[in-house]
Amino acid sequence: MDKIIVIGGGIAGLAAGIYARKEGFECEIYERHSIVGGQCTGWNRNGFHIDNCVHWMTGTSPEKEIYKVWEDVGALGDGIEIIQHDKFLTVEQDGKKLHVWKDVNRLEKELLAFAPEDSKEIKHFCKMLRAFSHMEVPALKPKEQMGFMGNMRYVKKILPVLPYAAKYNSVPITEYIKRFKNKMVQDLILSYLPSSFNTVGILYMYGTFLSGNGALPKGGSIGIATRMRKKFLSLGGTILTNKTITQITEKEGKITSALCSDGQEIAGNHFIFACDSDTTYQIVGKQHMDEFFAKRYSDSDTYPTFSSFNVYLSCDKKAEELTNMVLFKCKPIDILGGMHDTIAIKSFDYEPTFAPEGKSVLQIMILQDEKDFDNWETLHKTKAEYDAAKQTIANDIIERIYTQYPSLQGSLQVIEVVTPYSYNKLLGTYKGAYMSFITTHKTKREVHSGRIQGLSNAYIAGQWTLPPGGLPNAVVSGKFAIQRIIQDLQK
Ligand SMILES: Cc1cc2nc3c(=O)[nH]c(=O)nc-3n(C[C@H](O)[C@H](O)[C@H](O)COP(=O)(O)OP(=O)(O)OC[C@H]3O[C@@H](n4cnc5c(N)ncnc54)[C@H](O)[C@@H]3O)c2cc1C
Repeated sequence: MDKIIVIGGGIAGLAAGIYARKEGFECEIYERHSIVGGQCTGWNRNGFHIDNCVHWMTGTSPEKEIYKVWEDVGALGDGIEIIQHDKFLTVEQDGKKLHVWKDVNRLEKELLAFAPEDSKEIKHFCKMLRAFSHMEVPALKPKEQMGFMGNMRYVKKILPVLPYAAKYNSVPITEYIKRFKNKMVQDLILSYLPSSFNTVGILYMYGTFLSGNGALPKGGSIGIATRMRKKFLSLGGTILTNKTITQITEKEGKITSALCSDGQEIAGNHFIFACDSDTTYQIVGKQHMDEFFAKRYSDSDTYPTFSSFNVYLSCDKKAEELTNMVLFKCKPIDILGGMHDTIAIKSFDYEPTFAPEGKSVLQIMILQDEKDFDNWETLHKTKAEYDAAKQTIANDIIERIYTQYPSLQGSLQVIEVVTPYSYNKLLGTYKGAYMSFITTHKTKREVHSGRIQGLSNAYIAGQWTLPPGGLPNAVVSGKFAIQRIIQDLQK
């Protein structure tokens, strides 16, 4: 049987490997880091667990087609508990609270009582959320294999969304919120994602949560990655870690081998690049970059990315009021010259093993853009200054938390700080981005062909091929790569 070489052992690479083995291919995954999982990972510090990734995983509802993919790769399924919170987030301001409840009727009722002046817009917003709960991540086949009937089936499923998608795709979220007079309602809609998202991006995210299709598998990010790793190994796949692929050799429009930084030459019949797409084109050469990526990498105004500055704190007591994401306004924090007045904080108390008994681990996230990434990258050249900046900002954050939650005074310690540059350094992630290109009001929803032009046995998977990325797009892109190989072999 043919041998598939997968470059990158994130969620996309693991999914590609699992489907490759299920189809009977020999398969080896080469991963530059010491463990697989990519951005979907977690690690332990001082007796606490740091969960890097999952706040919501699209595909937790068995009614949606992507659920089957998560089941196939072992991330979801029998015996894996799904944690479904009753609210997605809370916005706190001046002692007042607003929530994004999972129950849309409860959300509507709360918003109407809080901001009667916006009742018409609130009703319309909630009506749109109900429609967006029908949204699906197409997961059965890659776009070019769906055929007329497949496309029609998909369109039928998302029919309620279509009128709103057509209308609001080109509306920036910053414009949309101006329809609301109440500032706190505006913040509830705006604060979680970067403000460059279009309105559809926000509706899609909240709609997914309301439908029960965006919950949390027990065990968090590392649990997802570990189960997928085990699945791949149990199917007879091979994982090689601490292996950075740097080059390829090609002959007559085909890759003959991939070269590892330690000098190993890896031969195979098919090569799936499931590493960051920017890294992919560094490996195969820019001459193989197609229009889809060329336009994205050359126009970051139209196709921006985002990341975040994350601080993890241990808390000497339970911080139950922070179990879901809470966003609060604070005295601005200076992050390398950028001023930030909103803190997103959450505790992982729903995962009792993440902290010692009676204690909590807290995650604080502050959004960062590409300019912030550049600043972190530059600062890292002077490591002592980079480390000092991380510590200073973490201390500022603790001070703002104490102001907001006086009951926590004296109970917090910094256990980890992750900058946008951390992702680039560890995983090679372009601009430290933690999803893919943002869907702005200027962009259409486009998907990549999954192929590398000029190299007939090379395929590309990963979140970058299906903007705006995230776990669901990563996992299906791995599956699609195998479906493309099978299709090519049948030609
Ligand atoms: C802080 C944070 C929070 C997030 N929250 C969510 C969330 O709540 N919900 C959600 O859906 N998504 C979330 N995401 C996004 C999600 O983690 C990613 O979309 C997903 O994990 C991407 O998977 P991937 O396989 O496409 O890429 P990656 O995870 O980037 O995997 C690529 C892999 O390739 C490896 N690699 C790179 N270069 C090479 C090379 N040259 N040779 C060999 N290997 C190489 C890397 O080390 C990495 O392991 C979050 C991400 C972050 C960082």
